[in-house]
Amino acid sequence: MDFTLSPEIESLRVRVRAFVEEHVLPLESDRANFSEHENIPDERLAPVREKAKKAGLWAPQSPKEYGGMDLPMVGWAVMYEEAARSLFGPLAFNCMAPDDGNMNLLKKVATPEQKKKWLKPIVEGKVRSSVVMTEPAPGGGSDPSMIKTYAEKHGDKWKIYGRKWFITGAAAASHFILAARTSDDKRKGITTFLYHKDQPGWRIVRRIPILGPEEHGGHCELEFDGLEVHDDDILGGLGNGLRMVQVRLGPARLTHCMRWLGWSKRCMEIAQEYVNRREGFGIRLADRESVQMKLGEVGHNIQIGPGCSPCMRPGSSIRVITRGKKCRWPRCTSPTRCTRLLMWRSSFRVRAAIPRTPSWSGCTAPLAPPAWSMALMRCTRWCWPSSCATRAAISGAGARGTGCDLSRLPPPARI
Ligand SMILES: Cc1cc2nc3c(=O)[nH]c(=O)nc-3n(C[C@H](O)[C@H](O)[C@H](O)COP(=O)(O)OP(=O)(O)OC[C@H]3O[C@@H](n4cnc5c(N)ncnc54)[C@H](O)[C@@H]3O)c2cc1C
Repeated sequence: MDFTLSPEIESLRVRVRAFVEEHVLPLESDRANFSEHENIPDERLAPVREKAKKAGLWAPQSPKEYGGMDLPMVGWAVMYEEAARSLFGPLAFNCMAPDDGNMNLLKKVATPEQKKKWLKPIVEGKVRSSVVMTEPAPGGGSDPSMIKTYAEKHGDKWKIYGRKWFITGAAAASHFILAARTSDDKRKGITTFLYHKDQPGWRIVRRIPILGPEEHGGHCELEFDGLEVHDDDILGGLGNGLRMVQVRLGPARLTHCMRWLGWSKRCMEIAQEYVNRREGFGIRLADRESVQMKLGEVGHNIQIGPGCSPCMRPGSSIRVITRGKKCRWPRCTSPTRCTRLLMWRSSFRVRAAIPRTPSWSGCTAPLAPPAWSMALMRCTRWCWPSSCATRAAISGAGARGTGCDLSRLPPPARI
């Protein structure tokens, strides 16, 4: 697989990285900028969001006419990952969940009038949004066709009754996308509706506590007791709710992965800095083989990650995000298979490249962080001589090994 980015996307990556470094990381480094929910209060974030807008780094997934960047999926992958070098990065660029997935859904399926009313204010950063699907058992969860919340038709309006939970951002959102049952039909029984927080007939029952930092507006349990929605605010047509859920969740699960990759890399950065500085029992942590192996394993997974963020389109084949190219297995819908395959291929290549009886002399591969990662990933699993240059590189000691010849490794695999 070729991970080379086009010059435009690479230049975007560099700009996002520089912006995060200059404007976002300083926010994060001051504890005073964290709210009681370990997130950043809006008033502290607002100036940075304004700067991001001015820099043209705003709403990467949204239409240009509303102020977004309308990037292709490869651009999202790169921008989301760099943005997530900081916890606050995705918020600063208006590409945080659940707004990013909601904007993408509205962009794809809303009518022009609906876009103006419901999408534009989210893209502009004036309001936040929530998607309202999950219900307590026996209602809809992993299987949205089990949704029990129902809508009754009254003239040109619908009245909605039911209960939902784990609704991210509900306490701070103004625009909601709600999935409810409109008939008993197995495939066409669910419809998605749009509503505003000020419409009567619904309430937040509680904010569900979670571990760790919370998105703005928490994760809430909601009750619907006759929420009235007009026909005009049906999204994607009557009975098309299951399709809407697919369109919403497919890319949105992947944008989580893109952000998590960025956060994982940052964790590695922090860990590398720490193990290089911290000593115990007379030596630096970085000089301990077990610590090096753990970090190597993490580096391995981070490297594999982008190759395994396949873009799943309903009923179609996987596209590898990094290049937008189709992979070899048409109609495959298993990212797990893709992941395993990549790992297997990389291991195979390492085995092929490293001699069975290695002679640890003449290593010519002094690697410096962060360039160690790809080679390290190969090295750590099948080749771990105690004097190897790659190990030396991760421990920050420079190339002191005289071991394997990394130049023998073939170029990265293409699938
Ligand atoms: C932090 C957080 C934020 C969330 N935000 C939102 C939101 O904004 N809006 C919203 O509507 N929902 C939200 N959810 C809910 C989330 O979408 C559901 O938790 C998810 O769809 C699973 O539904 P469930 O919890 O009912 O689990 P269940 O459907 O009861 O499933 C339980 C477990 O069984 C396993 N399982 C179920 N089906 C299968 C299968 N087919 N194959 C293999 N294993 C399976 C899985 O491990 C699953 O986790 C959020 C949840 C969390 C934790």
